[in-house]
Amino acid sequence: MKEYLFGKTLEELTVIVKSLNQKPFVAKQIADWLYKKHIEDIESMTNLSLKFRDELKDKYCVGLTKYSNVVTSKDGTKKYLFKYEDNALVEAVTIFDKERVTLCISTQAGCKMNCKFCATGKQGFSRNLSSNEILNIFRSIDEFEHITNIVYMGMGEPLDNYENLKKTIDIFTSSYGYALSPHRLTVSTAGFLPYLKNLLYQTDVDVAISLHNPIAQQRQQMMPIENAYPIEKTIELLKQYSWNGQRHLTFEYIVFKDLNNEQQHIKALCRLLNGLSCRINLIKFHTIPNTEFVGASEKEMIEFRDKLMSKSLLTTIRASKGEDILAACGLLSTKEQSK
Ligand code: SF4
Repeated sequence: MKEYLFGKTLEELTVIVKSLNQKPFVAKQIADWLYKKHIEDIESMTNLSLKFRDELKDKYCVGLTKYSNVVTSKDGTKKYLFKYEDNALVEAVTIFDKERVTLCISTQAGCKMNCKFCATGKQGFSRNLSSNEILNIFRSIDEFEHITNIVYMGMGEPLDNYENLKKTIDIFTSSYGYALSPHRLTVSTAGFLPYLKNLLYQTDVDVAISLHNPIAQQRQQMMPIENAYPIEKTIELLKQYSWNGQRHLTFEYIVFKDLNNEQQHIKALCRLLNGLSCRINLIKFHTIPNTEFVGASEKEMIEFRDKLMSKSLLTTIRASKGEDILAACGLLSTKEQSK
C-alpha cells in the first residue's frame, strides 16, 4: 500500500525527498502543492521533474478521502461522516455563524475517556486517527476554503493522540501549510495531563478544558479521567503557564439540573480558578440514550451565569447548534452507522 503525502509535516517531507536523492527545497515545493494549491494527485505537481514524479508515485500518493455522508440541520449546521479503509467511522461538524465558519474536528474514532454524558464516550474507542485522516476532514468538506476556525472538540480526546494532533497543528499554522493564526485553533481536553504541558509549551493554540464540575468527588462520577488526572493538578499546571493576552483559556461547563450549578459549585469554581485569566463557557446538555443526566433549563443556565459573573468569573452561554441532526456538543456517535 502506498504511503500518503497529505498530512505530512515539512520535516517529514524533507526526509522523504532526501531519501529519493532530491534537494531539501523540493519538500517545500511538495508542501505548496499539497497545502496551498490543493492538488489531488502527484501528477499535478508540475514543477517536479517527470522522472521524480514517477519515483514518488512508486511509493506514495496524495491520499485524500471523500466523506461518505453529510446531513444538514435546519440551522445550517452540517455533520459529515468519514469512513476509512479499515471501516473506522468518524464524524465532524461545521457550524455557520455569520462570518464565522467553525469546523469541529475529530482526532480519534470513538474515545477512551468514557465521560458519562457523552455519546462518543459511550460508544468506546476504536483507534487514533492519523495526521492524514485528521487533516483530511478539513480538506475534504464542501466549505473547506471558507473555514475560519478549527476546534478539536469532535470525537476523541486530542491529547491522547498527541503526536498526530501536533503534526496537524503544525500544518494548519505554519507558513508552508495553511498559515492560519494559532488563535483560530482551539484544542479541547478533558485534562489529559501527560500531554497538556506539551500542548502549552510546544504550540500557541487556544486551550479549552472540559471541566463540568469543580468538586473532585462529584467530577469522578461524571468523568472517570478525574481518577487518573485530577482537575486540581490540571489547574496547577495551567497556573504555572504565563498566559499572555493573546492566547485564550476556556473552561467548558455543561449545566445539569441540580447537579453542578449550586452554591457549593460557585464557591469551588471561585477557589479553583482564582488567579487564572479565563472564561467559563456554559453549554446546554443534549440528552443521549441511556443516561440519568438531565440538563438545566435555559432560565437556570442564565441564573447560574449571572451568579458566576457576580463573582467576577467571566461566563458566557454557548449557542446550541445542530441538535436535530445529533451534531451538537456531546452527541457525536457512529455506533448506529457501525451496525
Ligand atoms: S467528552 Fe470528550 S473526552 Fe469525554 S468521552 Fe466525549 S469525546 Fe471523550
